[in-house]
Amino acid sequence: MVPPNVAAAIRGAGRPVCAYVYARERLRANVAALRDALPAGTRIAYAMKANGNEDVVAALRGHVDAFEVASGGELRAAAGLPAIFSGPAKTDADLRAAVEAGATVNVESLHELRRLQVYGGAKVCLRVNRTHPALPGTHAMAGVPTAFGIDEALLPEAFAIARNVQGFHLHAVSNNLDAAAHAAFIREAVAWAGDAARRWGVPAPVINVGGGFGVDIAAPTGTGGRFDLDVFKAGLAGLELPDGATLVVEPGRFVAATAGWYATEVVDVKRTHGQWFVVVRGGTHHFRLPASWGYSHPFTVLPVDAWPYPFERPGVRDATVTVAGEQCNPRDVLARDAAVASVRAGDVLVFAGTGAYGWEVAHHDFLRHAHPQFITV
Ligand SMILES: *Cc1c(COP(=O)(O)O)cnc(C)c1O
Repeated sequence: MVPPNVAAAIRGAGRPVCAYVYARERLRANVAALRDALPAGTRIAYAMKANGNEDVVAALRGHVDAFEVASGGELRAAAGLPAIFSGPAKTDADLRAAVEAGATVNVESLHELRRLQVYGGAKVCLRVNRTHPALPGTHAMAGVPTAFGIDEALLPEAFAIARNVQGFHLHAVSNNLDAAAHAAFIREAVAWAGDAARRWGVPAPVINVGGGFGVDIAAPTGTGGRFDLDVFKAGLAGLELPDGATLVVEPGRFVAATAGWYATEVVDVKRTHGQWFVVVRGGTHHFRLPASWGYSHPFTVLPVDAWPYPFERPGVRDATVTVAGEQCNPRDVLARDAAVASVRAGDVLVFAGTGAYGWEVAHHDFLRHAHPQFITV
């Protein structure tokens, strides 16, 4: 089901329809639900890279405690809220800007740590790639060899370089749907950080366990796997933090994914070599995940009854279709073998669960088609 306010926004969009719709209420509800499951006092930093749309960022101000940023551009967009800056290739200009903005810098290497010492007064957390089993999820970043963080074995050197370390950053994975495993990861990370803080003399440590709360975008209506917040909350019950410690999380996908809908109008419906193709005005250059992850994104057909031409309207009933985009290449496919009751040229396909890592990671300017509209409700 497309929420009525989202459907109304799509019906009011320019034709042929091609739009992202973001819902402020849903963004805030997702933050509130996560906050309720976390220990009291946990700080929530929204990972802006999941969706850096201005309206989305504005809608979250006052509802999150900080923004997690991964570039100088995101740092500027965070202005007004505390920023937490991660990223493996920060430039000197990035570091300078971060210190000027009072951001916490999650330092990713010894070299970066040495460069940061040039600017006195930097707020430093060490991003550590610990020795632990990799978590379930789509992008393991710690516990395995990656470009992220400082190897645990190098911590003595890190503390020899810097005395102003405030804590640890332990972001390890993205899109983990196993809430029990994620709670166990956080418990273990807190215990590790407590030990490390004692060993290295870090008072009142910041313990940033990162993001990674999963959303099954192939079943955004909740019919498939989902990150079960009740299981997560139960898994964290009674968690004790070291004295004075602050727990920080950095959700991106969990906040934004279900707060976005990608709507694109059917331009043509046709059959070749025995297969039905529904050709839409947009495609994977607007919403790239189906192409990059190799899955079919579910959609709803929003019927549009008006038909402007005096001739036959292409369409098909009770069929299995492939939804192809406007690009001149055969990989521009949003869904394959999707069952539809009825779809016609002029109808609009609405893809729910597209608010995170959708537009942000797409190759927008390939082929120079017009960008979609962006509507916030
Ligand atoms: C990408 C990222 C996040 C957000 O990850 P999600 O899987 O979207 O929650 C948080 N922290 C860091 C350091 C990141 O790189």
